[in-house]
Amino acid sequence: MAKNCKLHCFVVIAVAAVTTPVVFGQTKFEPAKALNMLNTQEQQFDKGVIKVADNVFTAVGFHGANTSMIVGDDGVIIIDTLFGPSSASEANKAFRKFSDKPVKAIIYTHSHGDHTGGASAFTGMERPDVYATEDFGSAEGASAAVAPVKAKRNVRQFGRTLSPTESTNRGVAPSNTNDSDRGEGFIPPNISIPNSGLKTTIAGVDIEFYIGPGETDDAMFIWLPKEKVLFSGDNFYRSFPNLYAIRGTVYRDVLKWSESVAKMAEFKPHVLVPGHTKPIQGEEATSALSDYSEAIRSVYDQTVDGINAGKSPDQLAHEVQLPEHLKNKPYLIEFYGSVPHAVRAIYSGLLGWYDGNPTTLSPLEPRTKAKKIAELAGGTQQLVEQMNSALANEYYQWALELSDHVKWLEGADREHARKVKISALRGLAAQEYNAPNRNYYLSYANELESGQLSEVWF
Ligand SMILES: [Zn+2]
Repeated sequence: MAKNCKLHCFVVIAVAAVTTPVVFGQTKFEPAKALNMLNTQEQQFDKGVIKVADNVFTAVGFHGANTSMIVGDDGVIIIDTLFGPSSASEANKAFRKFSDKPVKAIIYTHSHGDHTGGASAFTGMERPDVYATEDFGSAEGASAAVAPVKAKRNVRQFGRTLSPTESTNRGVAPSNTNDSDRGEGFIPPNISIPNSGLKTTIAGVDIEFYIGPGETDDAMFIWLPKEKVLFSGDNFYRSFPNLYAIRGTVYRDVLKWSESVAKMAEFKPHVLVPGHTKPIQGEEATSALSDYSEAIRSVYDQTVDGINAGKSPDQLAHEVQLPEHLKNKPYLIEFYGSVPHAVRAIYSGLLGWYDGNPTTLSPLEPRTKAKKIAELAGGTQQLVEQMNSALANEYYQWALELSDHVKWLEGADREHARKVKISALRGLAAQEYNAPNRNYYLSYANELESGQLSEVWF
């Protein structure tokens, strides 16, 4: 049945064992299919060095992100440096099979740690120039005041504490990365690329830098005019882009992201080297960039149209979809980013939290609402039965929502409700092919089970 279904459709499947239909939707499928999709995606970070041009090599799978080496007349240029010196020195060793020339330059496409933390492993005794944008370091922009909760959410999104049997991957990166030396090899940039960009020659290699905000405001992309190789940084990888990260980020400028990728497409590269996942060669490089830009723009436009039609973020998160001709493109499957999360991010990025409906100006306090819901159900016991039956029928989202009401009710078996929530989270996780969602559900279930969470979080 799922075979005939488009990836984002809402599928209703009758399961013989239960009377109520199991509902899949958004980034969910039957567990076997979801797991198979994620496992297949792992090919995108098979460890190895890929020769993308006569003098250009990209190391994939040595950590979460990619690093590349361009060989020039009297030296090499390194683009992005992985997360820490241990993974970077492994990649460097692999590069050195192709050239032993000294490092003349290091380039950071943007300031995220998985691209900057391993620089020292490439340099040895050399002191190369290090290139980054003028805005380098402005990537996160979120208040340090919420750093503790962001750290927790980061662990969940990436599934950092999941057991090997629970772990799959991170959508555009493997899960088994060595993160212990995070950032230890970082070398601060000494050359700033101005907003107008820069065309120069390094080690005899003509190279061009273009400012390209997207996943971060401090991003740029790199173009080799002779080799026709384009390095996109994290504004492109083989997944629908992470226009919002559930670990918690400030608004990522979705419109600029789409524009940056459209600008990349204009170069018609022979090879596109993404920030994560394998390079794309040939004509597909340009069509992938055009499609990517169009997909982002379409989600933005549909959301804006919906907002102006008075629709709420909840409604729009279920309504907005990728256009039919883009839905099944292999580089737009929602392994990492997700359309519904993007819709919510665009909504709050443009308008803030308020959805314009006066009902939501001052909603009932959760405890009061839970009591009212219990009354509607015919009493606490009946509400608990509804919760149990939602779980039994694998209507996991509804089971979660009901457990969140039950947790506030005096006299309810809160411990039981907690167990229902844990089971529902694991049920949802199994259906998810969106890696951050899957990792988050599983991590949260484990935290609930081990009693790490406060009463408020249940
Ligand atoms: Zn990255």
